[in-house]
Amino acid sequence: MTLRLILGDQLNPQHSWFRQPDPAVRYVMMELRQETDYVRHHIQKITGFFLAMRAFAAELQAQGHQVHYITLDDPANTQSLTGNLDALMQQWAARRFEYLLPDEYRLDQQLRQYAQALPVPSAAADTEHFLTERDTLARLFAGKKTYLMETFYRAMRKRHRILMETDTEPLTGRWNYDAENRSRYDGAVPVPEPPPYVRDVQALVRMIQAMGVQSFGNVEETRFIWPVTRQEALDLLEFFVQQCLPWFGRYQDAMVQQHWSLFHARLSFVLNIKLLHPMEVIGRAVAAWEAEPERISIAQVEGFVRQIAGWREYMRGVYWAQMPGYASQNYFGHSRPLPAWYWTGETKMNCLRHAIGQSLDYAYAHHIQRLMVTGNFALLAGIDPAEVDAWYLGVYIDAIEWVEITNTRGMSQYADGGLVGSKPYVSTAAYIDKMSDYCGSCAYSRKLRHGPGACPFNSLYWHFYHRHAELLARNPRIGFAYKTLQAMSEAERSATLAQAEAYLARLDEL
Ligand code: FAD
Ligand code: SF4
Repeated sequence: MTLRLILGDQLNPQHSWFRQPDPAVRYVMMELRQETDYVRHHIQKITGFFLAMRAFAAELQAQGHQVHYITLDDPANTQSLTGNLDALMQQWAARRFEYLLPDEYRLDQQLRQYAQALPVPSAAADTEHFLTERDTLARLFAGKKTYLMETFYRAMRKRHRILMETDTEPLTGRWNYDAENRSRYDGAVPVPEPPPYVRDVQALVRMIQAMGVQSFGNVEETRFIWPVTRQEALDLLEFFVQQCLPWFGRYQDAMVQQHWSLFHARLSFVLNIKLLHPMEVIGRAVAAWEAEPERISIAQVEGFVRQIAGWREYMRGVYWAQMPGYASQNYFGHSRPLPAWYWTGETKMNCLRHAIGQSLDYAYAHHIQRLMVTGNFALLAGIDPAEVDAWYLGVYIDAIEWVEITNTRGMSQYADGGLVGSKPYVSTAAYIDKMSDYCGSCAYSRKLRHGPGACPFNSLYWHFYHRHAELLARNPRIGFAYKTLQAMSEAERSATLAQAEAYLARLDEL
């Protein structure tokens, strides 16, 4: 008998393991305190993972596979991955142990050590999910100080022949349509809403709470908004391609109070738990464009392909090239605690209230909200990247360390000193106002740098550049900021820096 382990983010129904049932193989899946407790999670994240795992186990069983599923409240559950494995290996007198390569460094180490210590043979199989190997990026950039995403993305387009005219030339002669994808949302195009999945999660939520799992955030107990089965994931992909893709790139950076995901795909959760394969998502988007080029422009499709074949695979490559050291990088030496309102949304800053509020309601914020609102503020305020990481890892339904930490510590907090981003993603209120409708109804004034009601982003922005001049002033992409700072009158600069100091001293009250 061979025992095969399937982790909660390894729900790939198309994996070669599942081609046909084998009476000599038993699959094991488990809900664990080890996984619910390594950070405090949003209740929708825990619920979503358990729902998807349970549905996946049932699907495999219906196909004739032998699946042993351990629920969180199973009295036989030791709540530790290796504890449960030990018990089952012994109970079933298993002669072989197999697992799928984990995407998290922590689990990779744990399972590698476990397998090595076993008295029986073991093997680790690929998850057959990604478009790259773990070390593809490290090999591409061997000897380089920075990892340029654009270089990686073009290599991916060529390797997988995505939107290519020839082996080396992109379709239409252009690789990048970013410049066309930066519009503010003005309400002219109605935002479509995917139907929520009518699913009663009350019993599951109660069980999680009764087991003493600490969580936060809100959940609607009869309308769980996230897809958790393969069919639901495919339906959402179809909804996205038909209804949202025509506007995806154009409004990708826009933020509005009324719509929490605008034309974004909401596919990150089902991609990250592997219910969908990235190539089938890309293939479907490209096919939709080919079928209706007059309705869906190339700029929209390229913008979407870039996120999945580019950013997503790139972040995974950075993770494996840099772990475990990446998890403790702190280039600026930031050490302030995360303001308490990150956990409640109770701040007078309208942009943050909305971005955090919807994160608590839906376990979701789109990329620009994560990068230019919550991330921007944390970086400007000098928050300890470990606290920022713990927040992002807990709050989002799609947060798994390989893609969370690289986006948070790398792209958002510049804690890697510029390995991922060539300059810190920071801004004053001007950018937030340009891309959103937040500022108009805010308690603070977007136009003021200092004085009563001045928007905190404005003074913190200059304080950030001022306090990190030694690390940043020589960066050619940031020269403009230092020129502006120098061009300010002494009185203006002092008042701005003093305003920032005053805000930093009472972050919890903002
Ligand atoms: P869309 O905007 O519709 O994009 C389509 C798909 O592209 C996404 O589903 C995702 O798979 C992929 N994608 C887009 N941008 C990125 C990116 N930067 N990195 C990796 N994949 C990308 N994404 C996660 O999946 N998990 C995380 O924990 C996570 N944490 C983040 C933390 C910060 C601070 C930032 C700035 C970004 C983070 N992202 C994370 C990336 C991105 O914000 C989410 O993938 C996206 O918002 C998911 O929503 P969507 O499916 O509607 O995406
Ligand atoms: Fe945010 Fe400042 Fe705009 Fe208020 S004024 S919404 S705090 S950027």
